[in-house]
Amino acid sequence: MQRHLSRAAASLTSVFLGIACQATVGCDGTATAPLAPKFEADRAWQHLSKQVECGPRPAGSEALERCRAYLESELKSYGLVPKRETFQESTPGGTIEFTNVYADFTGADPAADMIVVGSHYDTKRMTFPFVGANDGGSSTAVLLEIARVVAASGKRAFSYRFVFFDGEEAVRPDWIDPDNTYGSRHHALELKRAGVVSKVRAFVLLDMVGDKELRLTRDSYSDKRMYDAFERAARENGLGVHFEGKAMDLRDDHDSFMAVGVPSIDLIDFEYGPRNAWWHTADDTLDKCSKESLGAIGKITLLGLVELEGMLGKK
Ligand SMILES: [Zn+2]
Repeated sequence: MQRHLSRAAASLTSVFLGIACQATVGCDGTATAPLAPKFEADRAWQHLSKQVECGPRPAGSEALERCRAYLESELKSYGLVPKRETFQESTPGGTIEFTNVYADFTGADPAADMIVVGSHYDTKRMTFPFVGANDGGSSTAVLLEIARVVAASGKRAFSYRFVFFDGEEAVRPDWIDPDNTYGSRHHALELKRAGVVSKVRAFVLLDMVGDKELRLTRDSYSDKRMYDAFERAARENGLGVHFEGKAMDLRDDHDSFMAVGVPSIDLIDFEYGPRNAWWHTADDTLDKCSKESLGAIGKITLLGLVELEGMLGKK
C-alpha cells in the first residue's frame, strides 16, 4: 500500500448503512453469536511463521505458489472450498500471471447479501531478501484464522467471502497507477461484470496488522460509519488503544472495491517502526511482529464484523 499525499483524486464512497437491528440477534432471528473469543492467536502466529518460511513471495514466484497451496489446504481444513482466480496482466516487469484465492461462506439464506474480507498475500519484489512478515504475512495469517472462526460459527445473516489477493504490491519500486492492486482490481471488476456487486454490502481490508505496537491508522478514505462501528466495537471490549494511530490518506486494495461502489475500510497500521522505518525494508521480519497484535486485530475484526452485520441489517 501507499500513503497518498493528495486527496484530489480520491473516490470517496459514501453510502447509507441502515441500522435495522443491533446486538447479537439478526432481524430474522439468525444467531450472530460472538465470534471474537474463538480467535486463536497461536494459530494466526503459526500461519505467519509458515509464510515467512516460504521466503520472499512476489507475484509470479514459486514461493508464492507454495504459500497459495498452504492457504488452500488450511481453508479446506475449515470445511471451505477455496477457488483460484488466475489472470494475466502486463506490468512494468513484463506479463505476470496473478492468482487470487478466495472461499465463500454461505449465510443462513443462500441469497443473503455478502461481506467481503480481504488481505494481499504477495510480498513486494525487492533487490534484497524481503520476507514481508508484517506487509503481506500478518494480515494473511489473521484472515485465515478469521475464516476458520466464521466458518465454524453456524448460521449467519450474511454470506462471507474471504479473499487473498495477489499483486497488491507495485512491480516498480514506486506506487504509480495502475502498477498496484492487480488482484483486488481484477476481483472487484469481475464482481461488477458478473452483475453481483450490489450483493456485496461491505469490504473489510486487513494489511500490516502484525506490528508489536499495533496502532491502526485512521485512513480518511475508509467509510466513516464502518470505521466508527469497528472502533466502537473495539473500545467496548477493551481494545480501544489500538485505534490511537495517526490519520492518513491511504491507497490500498480497498480502492478497488470503492471504485465499484462498495463501502470499504482498511484496517492497517502504517507506522511500522520509528517513522515507518521497517516498511518495505529487510527489517520487515518476524521479530518486529507479535502474537498479541495478531490476537488483538483478529478480535477487533470479528467484533467489528458482528457490529457491521447489525448495522447492515438484512435486506
Ligand atoms: Zn507493501
